[in-house]
Amino acid sequence: MSAQQRPIVAIDGPAGAGKSTVAKAVSERLGYVYVDTGAMYRAVALGCIRRGVEIEDEQAASEIAAGIGIEFAPADNGGQLTLMDGVDVSRAIREHEVSDAASRVSAHPRVREQMVARQREMGQCGGVVMEGRDIQTNVFPDAEVKVYLRASIEERARRRARDLRERGLDVPSREELERSIAERDERDATRGTAPMAAADDAVIIDTDDLTIEQVVETVVVLVRQRQGEASDG
Ligand code: C5P
Repeated sequence: MSAQQRPIVAIDGPAGAGKSTVAKAVSERLGYVYVDTGAMYRAVALGCIRRGVEIEDEQAASEIAAGIGIEFAPADNGGQLTLMDGVDVSRAIREHEVSDAASRVSAHPRVREQMVARQREMGQCGGVVMEGRDIQTNVFPDAEVKVYLRASIEERARRRARDLRERGLDVPSREELERSIAERDERDATRGTAPMAAADDAVIIDTDDLTIEQVVETVVVLVRQRQGEASDG
């Protein structure tokens, strides 16, 4: 990274570890672009469901992934909208059923190829906070800042329930949430292509007992350190 260039901030971790909230807040603090790569896999999954494509059918799912328009746009409330072929699907992609379908569709190497190419294009100029499962290990292994967020399954299920409730979506039982999160973790961490993992040089943060502000501050400090090192060197 040159002194003029702004870093790529890669934030990974399992479902409910706080990635979206933290990544969004860090991007606002720094004036960086925020990219939620999970929303991209969710859009592909929703595209498959709406077009009656079997999630397990890699060929058909990768055709959807190649053809689908995925864009992010600012929302009136300061958040971010996910647009699929120009239509706002921000709410639909958060449905419980889509979470599971996204995790299954994202295991297809050819679907990942499509998404990773788009993600690299979005981040190529730096000044981006990108969150997902494989950003620091696969999409941008040279990212200047790599953070891996962790939290206990109980805390993650609690956060997911709160998130669904706030969005006015159906909230499954605590047991069902914990079971489906554990199942997604297992699938994401053991798949053959780009499994979820922390990079060897990642800063690992356990978020159970930290406030969002504390985590955000830690990441912002890391970014400033890297920028300082780049302008010193
Ligand atoms: O982060 P989120 O829960 O929205 O992601 C939905 C699913 O998309 C994950 O369970 C995971 O299987 C997949 N995903 C992925 N790689 C990423 C981001 C998300 O495989 N970089």
